Amino acid sequence: MTTYDHWIDGVAVPGTGDRFGEVFDPAVGVVRRRVRLGTAVDVDAAVSAARRAADSWAQTSVTARSRIMFAFRELLVRHEDELAAVISSEHGKTLDDARGEVVRGREVVEFACGIPQLLKGAFSDQVSRGVDSYSFRQPLGVVAGITPFNFPVMVPLWMHPLAIACGNAFVLKPSERVPGASDLVARLYQRAGLPDGVFNVVHGDKVAVDALLDHPGVDAVSFVGSTPIARYVHGRAGAAGKRVQALGGAKNHAVVLPDADLDFAADHIVAAGYGSAGQRCMAISAVVAVGSAADDLVERIRERTLHIAVGPGGADGVEMGPVVTAAARSRIAGAVAQGGKSGATVVVDGRDLVVAGHEDGFFIGPTLLDHVTPSMDVYRDEIFGPVLAVLRVPTLDAAIDVINANPYGNGTAVFTSSGHVAREFQRRVEVGMIGVNVPVPVPMAFHSFGGWKQSLFGDHHVHGTEGVAFYTRAKVVTTRWPRVREATPAPLAFPTV
Ligand code: NAD
Repeated sequence: MTTYDHWIDGVAVPGTGDRFGEVFDPAVGVVRRRVRLGTAVDVDAAVSAARRAADSWAQTSVTARSRIMFAFRELLVRHEDELAAVISSEHGKTLDDARGEVVRGREVVEFACGIPQLLKGAFSDQVSRGVDSYSFRQPLGVVAGITPFNFPVMVPLWMHPLAIACGNAFVLKPSERVPGASDLVARLYQRAGLPDGVFNVVHGDKVAVDALLDHPGVDAVSFVGSTPIARYVHGRAGAAGKRVQALGGAKNHAVVLPDADLDFAADHIVAAGYGSAGQRCMAISAVVAVGSAADDLVERIRERTLHIAVGPGGADGVEMGPVVTAAARSRIAGAVAQGGKSGATVVVDGRDLVVAGHEDGFFIGPTLLDHVTPSMDVYRDEIFGPVLAVLRVPTLDAAIDVINANPYGNGTAVFTSSGHVAREFQRRVEVGMIGVNVPVPVPMAFHSFGGWKQSLFGDHHVHGTEGVAFYTRAKVVTTRWPRVREATPAPLAFPTV
């Protein structure tokens, strides 16, 4: 059985720990690989390697750093299928979906290839007589990235290409449930010409995370995961004096107005709710049907839900794979049961789904609940599984009230044919990423990704220009080069122009 080692200073190392995590194939429910769970000593080795590499990496010209990103991008293209296969086998998502995440992550590398332009400073000539002023940005030093299971390649790629292109060294602590892809990414960076020590991987759980949060050699932490852990990471790393961005969980609403094309809305809601078995931070989990839209919409979603092909992610024709663990499957089934008990109508029940030949896989079928209310746990909790909950409200105002009362604010979408409704919606919802007739409005790499409220702790969203700002610090220089001594002595009063 393969055991994933850490990757420190350009080599695979077993480290000092004697604990291992089990890496399942969720489609068959068996352990296929093991991963080492790093210790504080392993974290110190990775951070020390990163610190040693960081200085000379920061001195490397910005064009040389950009060229390495171009080379890394080509390798990601060449190894797309291999990365997708590892993702699918450890996470469970379909191969097409896994390829999609590799491509969306690669777009951040493509953005990072433009780092010379992104790091261009600003110059002001003659701000006073003989005085010029200019600003530029410098790397922070060592950045740690801590990532969730649901996007084993894309979410780390939100972080390290930009951090590294900005001149930082990086230590990644990937999810211990899906460690394989990070192993391959580390080797691709090396082949792209990245100096050893600039990109390191320490596998592990809370022990490794805490060691990173406390380590004085780590200057900044990018975290993506659930809200309780995001809050914790933000607090602990912040208390240790680090810059932190911590992206948390979500409850994403799709509001459907009676004037929407209901077939179009149902198609897209089904894709956004059940794609990746609902395990996306931007998945639609709550459908808010306004007024007369409700009955027709629920019927259209129901019809489509019944035809989704569920099976192992690597098989042809499969549209939805299993969820990541047996524990996740029981938690999701429990939430559906609780929803039914508290008065929701279970329109489609995926709990008893059995996939022939994969009886021990962690499968749960697409599930649709109607007449859900904001007080029910199945609405309040992040289910993170293939469950759509329909809430019925009378007006657009009521729909916006439901969204704004929710503690999360990651993504939301409105389905309508009215420009006026769309404009009202986008201006009034307290959510960071909004789709108009687009159910999963994940911003492109050249914009920034981030939610509001309990979906993000910290000031900066990830990637795009906010990512560049997060991974760098600004300096402003004011210069004067006098050729002759000035006739009058410098006044003691505060200088004005
Ligand atoms: P998680 O919070 O359990 O784990 C995330 C990371 O934190 C992992 O690397 C894990 O090892 C570590 N971790 C877990 N428990 C810890 C603890 N007690 N102390 C320190 N570190 C700990 O999240 P997950 O289950 O891997 O991923 C799913 C969650 O991530 C969902 O809530 C989803 O919404 C969220 N997510 C959010 C975004 C976003 O952009 N906002 C994107 C993807 C996923």
